[in-house]
Amino acid sequence: MRTSQLLAPTLREEPAEAEVISHRLMLRAGMIRKTTSGVYTYLPLAQRVLFKIATIIREEMNRAGGQEVALPIIQPAELWQESGRWAVYGDELFRLQDRHDRDFCLGPTHEEIITDLVRGEVHSYKQLPQLLYQIQNKYRDERRPRFGLMRAREFIMKDLYSFDRDAAGLETSYRKMYEAYTRVFQRCGLKFRAVEADPGAIGGNASHEFMVLAGSGEAVIVYCNECGYAANVEKAEARPELSQEDLEPCDLELVSTPGVRTVEDGTAFFGITPKEIIKTLFYEAEYETGRELVAVVIRGDRSINEVKLLNRLGCLRVEMASEARIKEATGANPGFVGPIGLQGIRILADAEIPLMVQGVVGANQDNYHYRGVNPGRDFPLDDVADLRIVEAGEPCPKCGHPLAESYGIEVGHIFKLGTKYSSAMNAYYLDDKGQKQLMVMGCYGIGVSRTMAAAIEQNYDANGIKWPVAIAPFQVIVVPVSYQDDQQRQVAEMLYEQLLNLGVEVILDDRLERAGVKFKDADLIGYPYRITIGPKALKEGQVEISCRFTDQCSHVKVEEAAEWVANQIHQQLHS
Ligand code: ATP
Ligand code: MG
Repeated sequence: MRTSQLLAPTLREEPAEAEVISHRLMLRAGMIRKTTSGVYTYLPLAQRVLFKIATIIREEMNRAGGQEVALPIIQPAELWQESGRWAVYGDELFRLQDRHDRDFCLGPTHEEIITDLVRGEVHSYKQLPQLLYQIQNKYRDERRPRFGLMRAREFIMKDLYSFDRDAAGLETSYRKMYEAYTRVFQRCGLKFRAVEADPGAIGGNASHEFMVLAGSGEAVIVYCNECGYAANVEKAEARPELSQEDLEPCDLELVSTPGVRTVEDGTAFFGITPKEIIKTLFYEAEYETGRELVAVVIRGDRSINEVKLLNRLGCLRVEMASEARIKEATGANPGFVGPIGLQGIRILADAEIPLMVQGVVGANQDNYHYRGVNPGRDFPLDDVADLRIVEAGEPCPKCGHPLAESYGIEVGHIFKLGTKYSSAMNAYYLDDKGQKQLMVMGCYGIGVSRTMAAAIEQNYDANGIKWPVAIAPFQVIVVPVSYQDDQQRQVAEMLYEQLLNLGVEVILDDRLERAGVKFKDADLIGYPYRITIGPKALKEGQVEISCRFTDQCSHVKVEEAAEWVANQIHQQLHS
């Protein structure tokens, strides 16, 4: 390829619309353009990167026994009604109707379609396991499309589905995928971590997320350097801390507390620590059948984990209740609400609450609190569960060593689905005794376009992107300082030709631009190697080879330059 022909309209100015580095750099490097909110056009450089990521994924899926298929994007509502998800998937589903008013959706994921295929075509235990996958556009009407390709409404995903005879088979398939994912992200040249995750709306009972580590990541990960435990904070188990073990229960006392609204106000007024305050939060839980207002009590120094709350309630969504709703239910303003004397409202307590013997709570009466509150004695504990967010420094739930924290971008997610879809959709096979059995499923996704963005979030500097060699749009750029100069042009053309013959992905900057412009573009786009052909080095029969990643620059003889770079690339790809 020659840059004179390349459609990569680079921008010098910072695009105003971009919120994160990857979005900004992809716009500036002429890789993507926004078509509409959450929907992007990929220009040639982006397409090359996506293709490379997809190739690595494809090789690893095939190696693990996966078979590639192509499933339809347009999916009939009937299948989604059969699985029960037509009603529960919510506004993220792009729904449409055909000319006969039949309902369809654009596939956000393909459990229904693949289960329908397999139940029709696979009947015997001899045909199992099956690992089927595709790499394709997915459609999700995200509530907040943002961060460019990271959270788009149309994006590229690899999704694989496993069908096994039993739980042991699923375990084997899951392991295979875990290893395949590890190889995929290693081969992409990314720093990542596999963490325990919440299975979310897809269901099932076990899952891992693959997180590319980057400060800009939306996900918080806690991990233990001692035993290797690592989890998304949404999922990380909290160890309840004993905080009042040497206190005895005392009498409940109503105290006038004018203007004491927050945890900080409470600690100052009562001369206590936040650990001695019991916070009461009201949530609206939304079920298929209706809504319920619930009260959640948690220690004053802790935060609610809404994912844990949602799972515990088994509802579709949870939302903080409005001030008006809280006032209607308790008679008090937020700041003075508490769990004592609530009528007809379930009280869910975080696991640390029953360990308290004397707490402070709002009295459900403006400007009053109770102290000496004994959970269980003074208010009912309708349900007790781990409902809080774990923080760095807390003990590891497995070994007790203090947990560390970092930020990650979720690029892959693997789930054990079990029989959720096979039972809803009657996907049976006949076992070796001729008995009907439900197939046991798993599903495994990689965000291909998100992986491209995540690679940039992890690898960039002030001048632009620094592509890992394995997923770079081109591996090498050949830049003659002046293409008009006969000698420089001849050397550049020769090296270009030699590199092509060596199977290196090379681009030649044949533009009649100033050297500075060419260097800026090369750095912005982030080619891993740049061969610069300038008058000074050429006098000594040399060219300059710089590495975008390490910033190192080597002088190499013209005759050896192509081999030299080809070797470097080979080493990087196979180390
Ligand atoms: P998130 O929690 O980020 O919304 P998810 O749990 O909805 O992700 P999955 O349904 O597990 O995601 O999808 C598999 C993979 O697809 C994710 O790991 C992610 O890499 C990618 N992905 C999901 N949603 C998007 C999106 N809106 N834009 C780009 N990639 C996405
Ligand atoms: Mg999502």
